Amino acid sequence: MNVKVVLGVALAAVVLMVALIIGGGVYLYRAFKSSSQVLSQTVDELLTAANNGTFEQTYRTHTTLKFRDVTSLEEYRQLGEAIRTRLGRLQSKKLTGLYFRQFNATRYADASYQARFEKGPATIHVRFRKRGDKWLVETFRVQSPRLRPELPGGTCPACGKDYPKGAKFCPSCGQSLPSEDESAKGKAERARDSGEPPTESHEASPAPASGDSSDKGH
Ligand SMILES: [Zn+2]
Repeated sequence: MNVKVVLGVALAAVVLMVALIIGGGVYLYRAFKSSSQVLSQTVDELLTAANNGTFEQTYRTHTTLKFRDVTSLEEYRQLGEAIRTRLGRLQSKKLTGLYFRQFNATRYADASYQARFEKGPATIHVRFRKRGDKWLVETFRVQSPRLRPELPGGTCPACGKDYPKGAKFCPSCGQSLPSEDESAKGKAERARDSGEPPTESHEASPAPASGDSSDKGH
């Protein structure tokens, strides 16, 4: 009789614990999912604002004091302009990383996205800081080849790496480079002076290298 009671209580305790663990898990998952949606929407708002010319207005509403300490309104405006002119509108983005942390009473979230814009792909890293019930942007980084300050000036004839516009020497191998005028002139002259067709290449129509192919078709 006593044994039955003890077993019953133990079973009830186990059932309760399992229920709590599952319930807690579901609760945490829901909290995680709803936070990740809020963060994602915030990023969308910023990118839309950049393309609508209202990016400057999000400086006060979407960023933390610390962000504004490091990034002036002018720098922020330039970021929005770069997004608009070099990337264009967001077409899709995928969450690739999301980490929540807590320091003292402050919650942070680091979110990374792989994004596709009209003009090319980009990786977006945002650190959010929770203030009240809002997540504000503490750092905002958009990485894309499209956002490089200078597009390549050309390809080095010695090592084949790209060098920046206006470079006098190749940054990869030190080869001295022709100035832009000479380079353009040189190309034109080479094209005109060469008697042979320029398209003839070593890769074109390789001859059968092995004797096996001669056996076919007989
Ligand atoms: Zn080089």
